[in-house]
Amino acid sequence: MNDNSSANAEPINRLVQELNKLPGIGPKSAQRLAYYLLRTPEENAGLLADAIMSVKREITLCSICFNVTDSDPCRICRSDERDRTKVCIVEQPQDILALEHTRIYKGLYHVLHGAISPTEGVGTEDIRIKELLERLNGSPVDEVILATNTNLEGEQTALYLHRLISPLGIKVTRLARGLPFGTELEYADDVTLTHALEDRSEL
Ligand SMILES: [Zn+2]
Repeated sequence: MNDNSSANAEPINRLVQELNKLPGIGPKSAQRLAYYLLRTPEENAGLLADAIMSVKREITLCSICFNVTDSDPCRICRSDERDRTKVCIVEQPQDILALEHTRIYKGLYHVLHGAISPTEGVGTEDIRIKELLERLNGSPVDEVILATNTNLEGEQTALYLHRLISPLGIKVTRLARGLPFGTELEYADDVTLTHALEDRSEL
């Protein structure tokens, strides 16, 4: 909590506390946002509250690729224009946005919702690996592109998936090394991502 909590009215404290839980929002920013919302017309505050609640109510995970979606299967899984022989594996739904932005990848995706991290207690059964293997089994997929982050957890996850998938007779590729170590895909620029996709190599 911030030092001004005793000077604030209780409802403001509550709002500051909730805003402070958001990523990248420290106590000072939380306080600034809370006072901004206090000044904003009630209608705008209502629109914000509604937007938050409708995301929670209407967004689910695609039962095929586990991307976030408001219809199941998601638009990408449903599309006739996607190449069904390729599946790109990413850690988070936001990574799909980054890759789609390059406009060069036309295959399908699979979202793991995390990466293997023994230090943070994330094991192989905590991310969507079992679902991936079930999906690949008997599918027309001939290439799996590992697009996990280039940090320690992402590399460990890629190696683990490579060991599991290559015995299935499916080509396993990894995004090219153009991505600097420690890069989160979500924050990579289009040019770097395009090169990383085009220059992907077999593991
Ligand atoms: Zn999907």
